[in-house]
Amino acid sequence: MEFRLSERMNHLKASEIRELLKLTEEPDIISFAGGLPAPELFPIEEMKVISHKVLNDEGKAALQYGPTEGYTPLRKIIAEQRMKAVGVNATYENILITNGSQQGLDFTGRVFLDKDDIVICESPSYLGAINAFKAYMPKFVEIPMDDNGMIIEELEKALEKHPNAKFIYTIPDFQNPTGKTLSFERRVKMLELAEKYNIPIIEDNPYGELRFEGDMIPSIKSLDKKGLVIYLGTFSKTFCPGLRLGWICADKDILNKYIIVKQGADLQSSSISQREAAAFMQVYNLDEHINKIKEVYRRRRDLMIDMIKKEFPENIKYTYPNGGLFTWVTLPEGIDAAELLKIALRDKVAFVPGGSFFPNGGHPNHFRLNFSNMPEDKIIEGIKRLGKVLKENI
Ligand code: PMP
Repeated sequence: MEFRLSERMNHLKASEIRELLKLTEEPDIISFAGGLPAPELFPIEEMKVISHKVLNDEGKAALQYGPTEGYTPLRKIIAEQRMKAVGVNATYENILITNGSQQGLDFTGRVFLDKDDIVICESPSYLGAINAFKAYMPKFVEIPMDDNGMIIEELEKALEKHPNAKFIYTIPDFQNPTGKTLSFERRVKMLELAEKYNIPIIEDNPYGELRFEGDMIPSIKSLDKKGLVIYLGTFSKTFCPGLRLGWICADKDILNKYIIVKQGADLQSSSISQREAAAFMQVYNLDEHINKIKEVYRRRRDLMIDMIKKEFPENIKYTYPNGGLFTWVTLPEGIDAAELLKIALRDKVAFVPGGSFFPNGGHPNHFRLNFSNMPEDKIIEGIKRLGKVLKENI
């Protein structure tokens, strides 16, 4: 059957890399490819208690439909605890519960984008966001980064050229894929530019609460007086991604647009997941849990960076993330990381080649390494294997 597909499907292609990365699921491969949290840190025993409690105390409501905006006690906890942790004063009326922040990204496309609209983003940017936006057929304008995140002079030039751009998409803290953080000065300037051009900022912040050292840099939303910032949050990296719970924090008018879109998409997020998350935070202390995660990830980051220093050839650069899940490796010009992955897989070690993080293509000489998901012995062995591949092929 030749289906008559929508035009958008021409823009959405399964990547070759995805096929290669399926191999990384084989048990003898040491994979630094995924963006997965450490499963041994999931609070399984606590969640057994919580799921029983939720079904026992409020089983009927937990298994029933609920409001599109989300379960009010959960929205309140998010406003009062999670948004406060990133410096934002919000009430539950500013919060819409989503199925992970990934749904917030898709909805952002639906709310803002028509074909050929301009999206401004970091270069490179989060692959899942690029794919979510691509369904709405925009054009991407990539802004180069340095160690302090998006280069603001470049952003300014892009805005002069594209004053009608629909939004600026940024991952300010411990960015996926580079691990870089946007400096405070640049956050202020980005907001000034957004105000000048009247362009919203989509602040996607799954990693902000996973800072290993140094002071928290206020979120862009916390500096926003005019309601230009639409903030995407998630419990995926600080709690459990399997619950599929994230949120959008924004001014009511624009949030209402997202609520309309959510009604059409799935009516609401899971009633039982929302109640479980809320009950967990009422009974246990999520901040303590986050501290445990940070401690483990910090050790893994330290170990990975130490091993890279020892095992990688000297002409290879890498970022030093102060939090989050990733470091970003830059190979000499002319080396294709996708080709290198094929060789690495033979030696049973995997990473994500960087090319797919650039929405307009190019830049094949990078790859992303995840340090959160592998135990320490595997980090040591995996980086040794990778070092050997690099030494032999570069
Ligand atoms: N944004 C970024 C930058 C991410 O890295 C991820 C997950 N890897 C997401 C959004 C989506 O996460 P979730 O839907 O699980 O909240």
